[in-house]
Amino acid sequence: MASGRTHVAATIALTPMAAMIAWQLAGGEPTAAALAGAGCLSGVLISPDLDMTGRTISETILLRWNMIIGRLWIAIWYPYALISKHRGLSHVPVFGTLSRVIYLSAIYVGVHFLLQYYYSLDLLQWPILHQQELMIFVAGLAISDFGHWVLDGCRF
Ligand SMILES: [Zn+2]
Repeated sequence: MASGRTHVAATIALTPMAAMIAWQLAGGEPTAAALAGAGCLSGVLISPDLDMTGRTISETILLRWNMIIGRLWIAIWYPYALISKHRGLSHVPVFGTLSRVIYLSAIYVGVHFLLQYYYSLDLLQWPILHQQELMIFVAGLAISDFGHWVLDGCRF
């Protein structure tokens, strides 16, 4: 099994490749390349290893950057770690990516309802208007997760 640092290095190394793939598939569209690259790079933080209750490298990175955001990130992902078996579904290519996207989406919808109730804010308009961009971003994240899976020995 690769270390957290190795996963971070691999994700960073995969980022230009994810951008190039999107750029090619989108007929030279730079926005698609940027979104896929950003999605892949987000794999440093939205890592399959968030299925661990112990401190992950993504949590350590955020804690060093900002203690409040780091602790919030740990709190957000703690329930995911509790319900996910380490190197279970969370590490299966595509399905693992989707499990984290669905998990984050559920939190986003929860925040939406809170803000809508108290401040009449509608957070659901943005993802509805940007579905295509979000899918490209998630595809980039899936590339990062695929690299993670390979480095972990292609196990399910
Ligand atoms: Zn892993």
